[in-house]
Amino acid sequence: MAMEPTALPDNVLTLNLKKAVNWCRRSSVWPLPFATACCGIELMATASSRYDLARFGAEVMRFSPRQADLLIVAGRIGIKMVPVLHRIYMQMAEPKWVISMGACASTGGVFDNYATVQGIDQFMPVDVYVPGCPPRPETLMEGIMTIQRIIDEYGLPPAKRHPLKLSVQPTFKPSPQPQVVLGPTLAAAVGQ
Ligand code: SF4
Repeated sequence: MAMEPTALPDNVLTLNLKKAVNWCRRSSVWPLPFATACCGIELMATASSRYDLARFGAEVMRFSPRQADLLIVAGRIGIKMVPVLHRIYMQMAEPKWVISMGACASTGGVFDNYATVQGIDQFMPVDVYVPGCPPRPETLMEGIMTIQRIIDEYGLPPAKRHPLKLSVQPTFKPSPQPQVVLGPTLAAAVGQ
């Protein structure tokens, strides 16, 4: 049934203010892409016209932490990169959310070595883990929709969120260096 425009001044619209604020917030999530490797290419594809992230109001990629409320970490993070990533996270204004995209960001992936962080949740709270190597754009979009559901359900994130500290040390153990074995002639020549 069509609404009578003349009837509008006589009607009152009641609405839960928190729901209205959360609806605005979840419909205008601005991501900050922190893409370091192959997952970043899928992140770019997600923003392309084929997948059209604008349908979720999340197409406005911001490269300034002060203008973004969703940090998407896509790709492996080296130990030396952690202070940079952490500073960016701390510079983002509250409320803010974090997506860990791909196996490398979430667990270190196949890079089980001393130089790669074995999961960014050691250093910052993560709200949604997007699985895959790399995740397809549809998977990332599901992650963003999950963030929207979190905002719908809980509104603001809790005031104090801590890193999980689930996996602190890489499990990689370096092999011992090969020993040089000299033959008797060469050993005699070098005095061994
Ligand atoms: S999870 Fe796979 S695709 Fe993503 S950065 Fe790591 S190796 Fe690349």
